[in-house]
Amino acid sequence: MGRVGKLSTPHGDVTTPTLMPVIDSSDVILSPNQMRREFGVELIITNAYLMLRHFGEEAAKRGVHGALSYDGPIMTDSGGYQILRYGDVEVSPEEIVRYQDAIAPDIATILDVPTGVQATKERAAETVQITLERAKQAVELRSNPKVVWCGPVQGGLFSELVAQSAREVGKLDYQLHAIGSPVELLEGYRYAELVDLVMTAKQHLPPDRPAHLFGAGHPMMFALAVVMGCDLFDSAAYVIYARDGRYMTSEGTFHLEELSYLPCECPVCVQYSLDELRRVPQDERVKLLARHNLHVTFGELRRIRQAIVEGSLWEHVELRCRAHPRLLDGLRRLTRYRDFIERFDPVTKPSAFYYLGEESVNRPEVVRHRKRLEERYEPPKLPILMLLPVFGREWPKLEEPERTHLVKLVPPFGVVPEELEEVYPLGQFQVPHELDAVQIKSVTETISRFLERYGGRYERVLLFNDERRWGKSLVEACKKVGEKLKVIQF
Ligand SMILES: [Zn+2]
Repeated sequence: MGRVGKLSTPHGDVTTPTLMPVIDSSDVILSPNQMRREFGVELIITNAYLMLRHFGEEAAKRGVHGALSYDGPIMTDSGGYQILRYGDVEVSPEEIVRYQDAIAPDIATILDVPTGVQATKERAAETVQITLERAKQAVELRSNPKVVWCGPVQGGLFSELVAQSAREVGKLDYQLHAIGSPVELLEGYRYAELVDLVMTAKQHLPPDRPAHLFGAGHPMMFALAVVMGCDLFDSAAYVIYARDGRYMTSEGTFHLEELSYLPCECPVCVQYSLDELRRVPQDERVKLLARHNLHVTFGELRRIRQAIVEGSLWEHVELRCRAHPRLLDGLRRLTRYRDFIERFDPVTKPSAFYYLGEESVNRPEVVRHRKRLEERYEPPKLPILMLLPVFGREWPKLEEPERTHLVKLVPPFGVVPEELEEVYPLGQFQVPHELDAVQIKSVTETISRFLERYGGRYERVLLFNDERRWGKSLVEACKKVGEKLKVIQF
């Protein structure tokens, strides 16, 4: 579901997936122009509610581009986050729609009511209802045709409410959608629940509209979010972390005090030693750390885009999700949605399938092979079945090749009839030859099913067994054909 896209706006094109750095219009640490030059930032986000409070109608005259002295694409957020943090905002939903039409950002957001993770089901249903009513009302109020509008999805931890919210807002005239209130989940490393939230929303939103994950900004979780189909992120984390002396990496966060070295190749970390960085005045250090954090953020986004293009996004996700056990929880939770995800995964990819751990068995390529074998495959009518587990030392000679059907046993795919072995990814994969329990189970399960279905039509079943590698599992799985089975040890 991860994709590289082009978002066209009146102020230029934006390549997705990308992060919109949050610009606080009253306290600019790094200017948008510097961000564009140094990090390749294409789209920034600023808060229309804060802008209204600080600049009022003055900004309406100059427009948001004038107020921020930036001529690139700008998105505005509406104050929903302030509701989540402080309970309420002093502006009406109508006012904030009209104000955004007046300041004319490229993308604007209605004033939604974030559900949060503390909400009871009643309260959550109410936030979904109010957000939806405001979304409908905003469609009527909108007057600036150049502004693209973002319709938020709410519902929090209640999947049926998230589904309803996504379905309903997806029917309205919006060009992109934000998935609401994941911030507390992100802060608490609750990645399994984040996966439920995002996947539920994505299953019910129109897939052609970009999806924005509100408030997500740590490079360690981008890969997991992108593989679920998130295209946009926004965050002030780069500067909030910098103020706190926190140093981002794609594997996690470090406090400057905990470090003995700077584990990074960005210009800041090459130019400064750790000691020098600790000694610079606070203001300057915040700026330097913010720059490092943005370098790491955009470096990871480029890596993800490259992985999408070359077909290795899953490998990248599996790698990143090994940085923290909670991220691994997220990856494992994704298993529940594997049939849905399979529908979006390309049938062929330019790169080989790498098995990198037991989660690989749930990847779309494996799910698809098994599904299609069940639904679309019929073995040829030959009397002898020869089962060859891969990684044998030498292929045995066939005694009666014209009467023998050759089937390879390939973890994690399972049964691979020889007629199919050049089909992607069966002709293009790398798996560890030292088998783990999941690899063995993936083969024994499918060979069992295959023999249940077709075992009756063969006169003889020959199993070449390598007991040192496979133990007794293959023989056990083949026993159901009874007397017909002949086991030959490698
Ligand atoms: Zn760095």
